[in-house]
Amino acid sequence: MSAPSHDHDEMDECVAALARVHAFLHSELVEADADVIRVHLHACERCMENYEIESTITEMIQRSQPEEKAPDTLLARVSTMRITRRF
Ligand SMILES: [Zn+2]
Repeated sequence: MSAPSHDHDEMDECVAALARVHAFLHSELVEADADVIRVHLHACERCMENYEIESTITEMIQRSQPEEKAPDTLLARVSTMRITRRF
C-alpha cells in the first residue's frame, strides 16, 4: 500500500465514481452529481469499462422484470416464500 501520491487522487475519483455508478444507472442522482460521473467515465477508461459492465447487468435485470412496478406481486411472492420456509 505505497502508491505514489499523485495516483491517490485519481483513485479517490474512481472510488467515488464507482460508488455512485449504481445510483447513476438508476437515475437516482441529481443532475450535478450525474454530470460528475459522466465526465469521469469519459475521462477514465477503467471506470467506463466498469460502468458498461454494470449497465449491461442493470439492463438485463430490467428486461427480466418488464413490469417495473409490481410490488404487490413481489410481496405476495416473498410472503409465499416465507410461509414455505416455515415447514
Ligand atoms: Zn476512474
